[in-house]
Amino acid sequence: MKCDEGYRCEVCGEDVTSIVESDLYLRFVIGELDPETLHTSAERHLRCNPVLAQFICDDRFEPVVVDGPMAKSGLDHDFVSERTQLVSAGYRRLLEIIEWDGDRDMTEYPLPGVVERYR
Ligand SMILES: [Zn+2]
Repeated sequence: MKCDEGYRCEVCGEDVTSIVESDLYLRFVIGELDPETLHTSAERHLRCNPVLAQFICDDRFEPVVVDGPMAKSGLDHDFVSERTQLVSAGYRRLLEIIEWDGDRDMTEYPLPGVVERYR
C-alpha cells in the first residue's frame, strides 16, 4: 500500500489512504510491530490511536491531546521525552518513505537501528 490502495480504519471506518496516516506503519518503522503481522493486523489512522499519536511532535502533524490515565501529561517525564523522540522520528520516516522513487522493499522502511531488531 502506498497511496493508491486504501485500508479501512477499525476505529472510524474510513479508509486509511496513505502510510503517513497509518498507525500500523508508524509502529512498524519504530520497531513495535512484527513485519510478519503487518498484513494481518487491523489498520487504524494515527489520529484514531491518540495514545500513540500524542507523541508525534512535528509541524506537519496537528497535535493530539489525550485525557485520562494514558495522557502524556501524567506520564514519567523521561519516558515522554524518549517516546516523543522515537514516535516523531517514525512519523518523519513515513513522510520520507512516500517521497521515495519507485517501489522499495518493505524491509527498508524501519528507522536505522530498528531494522536490525527485525532480523
Ligand atoms: Zn480512523
